[in-house]
Amino acid sequence: MFYKIIARCSVRILLLSDIHANLEALEACLAAAPAYDVVMNLGDVVGYGASPNEVIVQSRRLGQLFVRGNHDKAVCGLMDTLDFNPIASAAVEWTRNQLTPENLDWLRALPHGPVTMEGVADVQFVHGSPADEDEYVVMPPEALRLLEESPVPLTFFGHTHLQGCFVTSMDAAGKQSEGFYPNYKTVGQAETVDLPIRSGFRYMVNPGSVGQPRDGDWRAAFAVYDTEARVVTYCRVPYKLQEAQERIIAANLPPRLATRLAAGK
Ligand code: ZN
Repeated sequence: MFYKIIARCSVRILLLSDIHANLEALEACLAAAPAYDVVMNLGDVVGYGASPNEVIVQSRRLGQLFVRGNHDKAVCGLMDTLDFNPIASAAVEWTRNQLTPENLDWLRALPHGPVTMEGVADVQFVHGSPADEDEYVVMPPEALRLLEESPVPLTFFGHTHLQGCFVTSMDAAGKQSEGFYPNYKTVGQAETVDLPIRSGFRYMVNPGSVGQPRDGDWRAAFAVYDTEARVVTYCRVPYKLQEAQERIIAANLPPRLATRLAAGK
């Protein structure tokens, strides 16, 4: 899939991933986001949270740049849930029953990654990995293999719900990959951490999960990439956690989906 956007020398891309039907978290991210020109959604718009229709409507209002996630596929019947744990499967089933026919059709039409944007050179967007949309890239050696094969130096991905990046040096000194995770100062305030993208290196950058972070930080996660400054700004923002939890309980979704939000796990 190749997205056409208005060509300009500088584009600030708001990167949202793994919103997972958490409307409170999405609204907090949008309220706190630094200035941006376009939104790229890296998938898993739904699944787990209790506001799937609202989150789809809001996501569609933000723009048209999407990559589909595994939960998006499972909910609309494009994949089975044999690899999902029982809680995730229950959430898929619940979500499917909640969605309007229009929103189910919209999920079904979401594109497979990688996607690229006209006017934004050397960057691709995926849900899991460039090789496999359902692959979890968690460790540097996995990223090294993918980055060596990648046609572009910068890949944005989601799926793991872990905010951070893998950076690989491909110079004469040899090939190696290491992980980077933003070091925040607080556990409850809105904060940002900048990651400069250096030439001569290859990156897989994960903006983190808006709606169900799993890196031990309960705050909603997202990022903005400035193509001219070549800087990724990682963001964390507190949101109305209790309201999101109460909605999950009221919906009769598995209670673990509410409690895990407080732990960020
Ligand atoms: Zn996800």
